[in-house]
Amino acid sequence: MKKAQEALLEWYEIHGRHELPWRLTDNLYHVYLSEIMLQQTQVNRVRDEYYPQFLKKFPSLKVLANAHQDKVLAAWSGLGYYSRARNLHKTAKLSLGGLPKTPKELMDLPGIGEYTASAVCSFGLGQNVPVVDTNIARVIKRHFALLSPKIKTIWTQAEVFVNAKEPRSHNLALMDLGSLVCLPKNPKCEECPLLSSCLGKSEPEIYTQTKKTVYENMELFLGVCIKDNKIALETSTHKMYKDMLVLPSVEPIEEDFIASFKHSYTKYRLVVKLYKSEEVSKGTKWLDIEEMSAAPISSLTKKAQKFFI
Ligand code: SF4
Repeated sequence: MKKAQEALLEWYEIHGRHELPWRLTDNLYHVYLSEIMLQQTQVNRVRDEYYPQFLKKFPSLKVLANAHQDKVLAAWSGLGYYSRARNLHKTAKLSLGGLPKTPKELMDLPGIGEYTASAVCSFGLGQNVPVVDTNIARVIKRHFALLSPKIKTIWTQAEVFVNAKEPRSHNLALMDLGSLVCLPKNPKCEECPLLSSCLGKSEPEIYTQTKKTVYENMELFLGVCIKDNKIALETSTHKMYKDMLVLPSVEPIEEDFIASFKHSYTKYRLVVKLYKSEEVSKGTKWLDIEEMSAAPISSLTKKAQKFFI
């Protein structure tokens, strides 16, 4: 075990992604923000766009706590999974004295699960705790040859494997190894620092077979009502887009058809059809078309925007 831990750290020293901005800070809020953003979003998009832009607008937990939710959702616009932004905002309001410093207390806050709590404590505070995300789970399952283990078993094994002397680097190394070497398909075992100790190297893929995602195809009919250069939007109550501004649903009328486009969201494969509309409901919000990009709108609405600007 000790040899494997050392080999892993040596590899990390050379190949690790040390330049990621949230690895160069000990600001707990920044680390926490990065972890929330990195759930379901690619590292490059977070690093190059959303993380710096969000921190520019909300440089501290206090500024975030005092902001209006619409501003927070607008800064999240296009990132998807908007409950993350709402929970981030709620957490900021509940943590005015600073974020708590134990996984248990962090998990009492909205939107913080076991992974995020451990990641904040490990990466932000250097605590001796295991961290298990998808990449790390894959390495652990293969390295210790765990066939269809329960998630609890993976956490327990990760805890046994943590290098108590350098837990932060150990966890970051495992994360990078999963992302750069121990790939879901065709892992590069010949480049792996854990090759000699890996129990699953002869058939790595049998430890990480996943069920095929079943996609659902759906059609969405949305109304475009524009008056005096203002567009009619509604505040969504749907779970996925709660509190975001969305185009209202309409009954499709062929002669009012404007355009259609495809959009993917989680397991949904949508065909979105836009129609000219005069219908205005009670809760309609009129927004200057030019102001849409600064409003809390989803990437679906952003795509739709191209057809009427
Ligand atoms: S040897 Fe191969 S299967 Fe084992 S941890 Fe390394 S890359 Fe993954």
